[in-house]
Amino acid sequence: MLKPIRKLPEIIANKIAAGEVIERPVSVVKELLENSIDAESTRIRIDIEKGGTELIRLSDNGFGMHKKNALLALERHATSKIENDEDLFSIKTLGFRGEALPSIAAISKMTMVTRPKSSELATEIQVEGGNVISVNDAGAPQGTYISVNDLFFNTPARKKYLKSIRTETAHIIDYIAMVAVGLPHIHFKLFHNGKAIKNWSQVKDLSNRIADVMGDDLYQKLYPVQYKNDHVSISGYVASPETTRKSLSTVIFVNGRAVKDRLINHAIFEGYRGRILKGQHPVAVLFLEIPFEDVDVNVHPAKHNVRFVHQGSIHQAVVKAIQNGLTQTRHTPWQSHPEKYVSPPISPVNENDHPNPINDDSPQSFITPTPKADKVNEYQAPPLFPNKKLINDHQSPLCESEQHMFHNPIVEKIIYSNCRIIGQFHKTYIICENNDSLYMIDQHAAHERIVYERFKKALFSRNLPVQRLLIPETIELTYQQSSVFSEIIPELKKIGIDIEHFGGNTFVIQSVPDILTGKDINSLFVDMAQSLPDIKNTAPIEQAIEDCLMLMACHSAIRSGQLLSEKEIQELLKELDLCENPSQCPHGRPTCIQWNVSNIEKKFKRTG
Ligand code: ADP
Ligand code: MG
Repeated sequence: MLKPIRKLPEIIANKIAAGEVIERPVSVVKELLENSIDAESTRIRIDIEKGGTELIRLSDNGFGMHKKNALLALERHATSKIENDEDLFSIKTLGFRGEALPSIAAISKMTMVTRPKSSELATEIQVEGGNVISVNDAGAPQGTYISVNDLFFNTPARKKYLKSIRTETAHIIDYIAMVAVGLPHIHFKLFHNGKAIKNWSQVKDLSNRIADVMGDDLYQKLYPVQYKNDHVSISGYVASPETTRKSLSTVIFVNGRAVKDRLINHAIFEGYRGRILKGQHPVAVLFLEIPFEDVDVNVHPAKHNVRFVHQGSIHQAVVKAIQNGLTQTRHTPWQSHPEKYVSPPISPVNENDHPNPINDDSPQSFITPTPKADKVNEYQAPPLFPNKKLINDHQSPLCESEQHMFHNPIVEKIIYSNCRIIGQFHKTYIICENNDSLYMIDQHAAHERIVYERFKKALFSRNLPVQRLLIPETIELTYQQSSVFSEIIPELKKIGIDIEHFGGNTFVIQSVPDILTGKDINSLFVDMAQSLPDIKNTAPIEQAIEDCLMLMACHSAIRSGQLLSEKEIQELLKELDLCENPSQCPHGRPTCIQWNVSNIEKKFKRTG
């Protein structure tokens, strides 16, 4: 027999709500931190013990609350932040659901001490499992102090899902770091088991805070970003492409709220496309301001995600913003530091034991208390080349020591054509010198860059010299490939490729850009056809064309293993000087490695 319907007692309702809002200790930190930020605090101290399971304590110097409000704040759906429906659609504060404090109080032993400016005395409230145990007056400075002990003490099921202390701690630190990056006007202090582990003092400049939090190597390597279109206004910083990370290192704020967003991350990677290697992660901190009615933050109780009305336009804007920002980075070759060939420490990490501040599928890990191995399950931009052959040619991940050696760009721009040519090594690398430096240039990568930029210019000016093939080339595609190919025929024409659909899955190539004459046209088109279907699913047509350009550049560039005359080398160096970005091939590999004489002297132990 069905039981009669009853309204749930408040305590049970709060426990249920807590299930949604409070997944793990970092969720408590998130809610308390948001409240402190909403209360306009300028100093926030966070103490955690045992990964937050034993204690999470947060003290701020914000507004504070009067006794009446403090008690009300512990009731479900009590909020000072919204009053009516309209407010819900123009949320300017981080909190608004009025659920956090009662939820936390329902599943922990909580003490709150709070004093507003206008009151002499503070109020101290103790709650246990949602029951108010005591309310007293107390002496305390202006602001709010909330101590959450024994989280999940009365919800053992939830407790079972907690990961190791190390993991929960890492989640918390990563989360605080992510928020702190965007709030340089707030002084954050973090204590773990009584020991100060982070102290980010108030700074005026956002770039200083970014470097404080995300790594000292970023000082002087951050470039401002400013971009605006009809739907979004973007500001922030991008780091130059040499300062990449091995895990996701982007921080995104949407209307002041730190969010995880795949669309925006994808766009950031797109913006860096051709400048970083696969597997590397750019460092970028972006602030998006979007009209309130065009963004929904109320998608999830914990407000992890946001939803955009104008997704496409926002994606495009972020790509543009990053690209514009990156034009300020210097075009410098990679400098080798042979004496620094040390692999960073790597500790074994359990598959499920990965620190992540918000949810498990997109870890943020620029700050963790212990070193950890790379994770490969984080979100990455779609592969540029599904074609295996090309992946091997161009995107083989560098070994640890190689990655290390590619991290320090030199300051001056080099003029390649001023170099004295020493010769060619292994019929693959050009060796030359200038002043105190020795350069090794990858002839294929360098020429690929040259040809790629030539194609791009031609695409804009529409004056690419074209060669009609004496014998048209016929290619046979799969059904899926031919449907994508048919769509881009008009676009291909713009880059000098005249191709006709012959019927069925057969295509006939009538003409190609001059530079491709004598090359294996058939294999180029097979490569293109193979990479297109994948691209089409994830990216707009312009990107498909861009990928075709890269393939064309790759196919027409000088190969490794090809003997070059001095004259040919001279020509190549001259053309490299004319490139906009001579230091990387279109896929982001370095074109040139540099040693200066002092590196070499050290190697030979001539100097100390
Ligand atoms: P929400 O943030 O969604 O409004 P909460 O349950 O997190 O709901 O908090 C309830 C209310 O308590 C807030 O609206 C705010 O008025 C007050 N409050 C909570 N934390 C603080 C704080 N640190 N300083 C000042 N007021 C606070
Ligand atoms: Mg709140």
